[in-house]
Amino acid sequence: MIMASSLLFNKILSRLLHGSVNPDILNRQKQTPLMLAAMHGKIECVEKLLDAGANVLMFDTVNGRTCLHYAAYYGHFSCLKAILSSAQYSPVAASWGFVRFVNIRDGKGATPLHLAARQRRSECVHILLDNGALVCASTGRYGYPGSTPLHLAARGGSLDCIRGLLAWGADRLQRDSSGRIPYMVALKHRHGSCASLLNPTSSEPLVWPSPLKFISELNPEAKALLEQALMDANREREKSILKGGAYSLPPQSHSDCVDDNISEVSESELCCICFEQVCTIEVQNCGHQMCAQCTLALCCHKKPNPTTASITPPVCPFCRSNIARLVVVIKLENHDETDQDSVDINCSKINKTKKLRNLNDIGSSSFKGLSGVSSFGKLGGRSSGRVADEWIDKQ
Ligand SMILES: [Zn+2]
Ligand SMILES: [Zn+2]
Repeated sequence: MIMASSLLFNKILSRLLHGSVNPDILNRQKQTPLMLAAMHGKIECVEKLLDAGANVLMFDTVNGRTCLHYAAYYGHFSCLKAILSSAQYSPVAASWGFVRFVNIRDGKGATPLHLAARQRRSECVHILLDNGALVCASTGRYGYPGSTPLHLAARGGSLDCIRGLLAWGADRLQRDSSGRIPYMVALKHRHGSCASLLNPTSSEPLVWPSPLKFISELNPEAKALLEQALMDANREREKSILKGGAYSLPPQSHSDCVDDNISEVSESELCCICFEQVCTIEVQNCGHQMCAQCTLALCCHKKPNPTTASITPPVCPFCRSNIARLVVVIKLENHDETDQDSVDINCSKINKTKKLRNLNDIGSSSFKGLSGVSSFGKLGGRSSGRVADEWIDKQ
């Protein structure tokens, strides 16, 4: 089967290269080569087809699905990304609108996000959310009618999908057509840990701050760093939920990997808000610096309220000027030793900051320290943490 499909793909590819075949040729189920390539995760083929002008907005007759549904359902995130980035600049975006394409429904009303959540494809869930997938959309007939992505993630039992959806503001109290909240779905299918996170009586997770969406250009590295800080904070919170303990923000637990490195950091490296963590984020245009946690706290609303949510961009806590842009201030050399692949610090992004010299001095070990530091409030026990708490409370 796999052999056969590889052969088929190679054949299609070579024909495409010679321009002798319509890239949208259909089989009996009205599936296009692009759908099949996305289903099988054939990224080279997906790319070639897209280059050849394959139409991303075709529906098959099996479930009324598009290539985007297939990539999401089977969890082929590189194919998903390729289709999304091609759709962004294709006639589809112009005629249909890109966000509408991201939220495209199959014959039963399922969006690609519903399918990815149901199939435990956390990478795809993340990519789709990042591209504007609606986190609270209800299905038509797919799954139990009226299911949200969170219901389907609860059904699938993927903690990572649930984390991602919650961090994006999914509502634990939204009911499906039978009146069930996701918590009940997780319980029914005996996904205990998922149920704990979905239990409406457990503490609210942190949600990706909506004011960050107003910062005109959120530098990708800065975004990755902030997202990591957010997810780490939620994991800390999870520990106490799963233990049944009380939770307070930010958790002041201690991590072993941090202290030796941090002792090498001079006072001038430390964030002037919490005095505990290394500055990793620079505010532009003013150039003030702070740590990822403080940046996140500055912009973070624990529970976005659509009626009161402010639409003003966050301001720099030092000079009160509007934050136009956030960039990463660090330069790191050997980050391959770390296990934190989601924060990909680009070494070419050398910043002319005065911090640079000292960071180079502590070398590769600094990244370990930083990755620990970026998991919210690792340096417990120091009273200066209170400063940040109080400062955040006043916001
Ligand atoms: Zn700080
Ligand atoms: Zn400033």
